[in-house]
Amino acid sequence: MQELVVVGGGFAGTWAALAAGRELLLNEAEARVTLVNRDPFITMRPRLYEPFTPEMRLELSPVLSALDISLRVAQVDGLDLAARTVNFGPGPHDSLRWDALVIAAGSVQRPLPVPGAAEHALDIDTFGGAERLAQHLQRVLARPKAEGALTFVVIGAGFTGIELATELRRHLRNYGRESLASEARIVLVEADAVPGPALGAGPRPLIEAALERCKVEVRLNTRVTAIDASGITLASGEHIPSLTVVITSGLQANPLGTQLPGERDESGRLVVDGFLRLPGQEHVFVAGDMAHARTDESHTALMSCQHAVPMGKMAGYNAARALLGLSQRTYQQPDYVTCLDLGDGGAVLTSGWDRQVVDSGAEIKTLKQTINTRWILPPSGGRESVLPAADLDAPWPPAA
Ligand SMILES: Cc1cc2nc3c(=O)[nH]c(=O)nc-3n(C[C@H](O)[C@H](O)[C@H](O)COP(=O)(O)OP(=O)(O)OC[C@H]3O[C@@H](n4cnc5c(N)ncnc54)[C@H](O)[C@@H]3O)c2cc1C
Repeated sequence: MQELVVVGGGFAGTWAALAAGRELLLNEAEARVTLVNRDPFITMRPRLYEPFTPEMRLELSPVLSALDISLRVAQVDGLDLAARTVNFGPGPHDSLRWDALVIAAGSVQRPLPVPGAAEHALDIDTFGGAERLAQHLQRVLARPKAEGALTFVVIGAGFTGIELATELRRHLRNYGRESLASEARIVLVEADAVPGPALGAGPRPLIEAALERCKVEVRLNTRVTAIDASGITLASGEHIPSLTVVITSGLQANPLGTQLPGERDESGRLVVDGFLRLPGQEHVFVAGDMAHARTDESHTALMSCQHAVPMGKMAGYNAARALLGLSQRTYQQPDYVTCLDLGDGGAVLTSGWDRQVVDSGAEIKTLKQTINTRWILPPSGGRESVLPAADLDAPWPPAA
């Protein structure tokens, strides 16, 4: 029996396993797909800025079992290309042998090199992080008179920081009282001169208007130099008392990738070829936030679900075809859109790599909710619906 192993059960890994499973089933191959994930869930990371709900993650087993894919719940700590194993620990049974491998262990938040950040700040990088933030907010809202209890600091005005800052009053309304939510001071700190520097000039006026409407105090050109239990200190020496500091400092590739040979980009992503293969490794594919892949002649995939899903499908398909000795396909994804939630300021939809604004407001907010609660979900409902969805040429997102 040949073994195809997928490391990581996020957007890229889950779709890689499904596309591989489909290809092996259709070819009646003597091969098995195993997906290894550190927990039994796929987390909807793009939802983690919203008020917390357990629905931000889904069980992987029902999705995978539709195509007879095995789930192994384990933390991978070693990738051995020479021995063709993924390893979980020092024992002889703590490893899985593979004949083809897809690496899709995603990304982690970039550490903020500021004293006290690790001890005193929260994040929304993982399901656990979002749950901790919800529990923390409930605790501080229960003692609103404590110094800094009603000041909420978000560090980093990128995509996630803007979404969180503009949605925070909704969190406070959900976990506390309307009066406390209105009274709260929300501070968004950004080292750059503009909010959302990477989002370009197109949506910026809408972002600025939404931050104002949501009464977010934006501190630009501002660096945080220390975080402690009482708040943050800025480079100017100013101290902002706050019991809630959330860091949204952007993503970097999972450090598992440092075990592999080859070129890496500034985010630690592994540079892959057009088939999403690790150069020089015919049976090793990389997808999602760990892969630096060309989408067309002039662009590179971003760390986004929008890229992780099609990349994952292609990597899984190609890995299965590599096992079968069949031709592979080249990853291409020229179209690009963004949909940014702006809290009570609605949402903004942009199109193209230059992020031209297509539309904004309440209708786009509804679209964002549809994306987050429907489009990014893996397929459900048994083999009759999962098998066609795993086809490389099936439209994704399904309703788009
Ligand atoms: C707050 C937030 C908001 C975002 N908003 C958007 C958005 O609006 N639009 C968008 O397109 N993208 C958004 N993103 C980015 C998007 O979530 C990622 O690009 C996407 O999740 C990447 O998919 P992936 O499969 O590569 O990685 P992930 O989804 O991170 O999945 C990786 C999986 O690997 C598992 N894993 C990691 N290490 C190990 C290990 N050692 N052993 C076993 N398993 C392991 C993890 O548990 C996880 O299940 C957002 C991200 C965050 C954090």
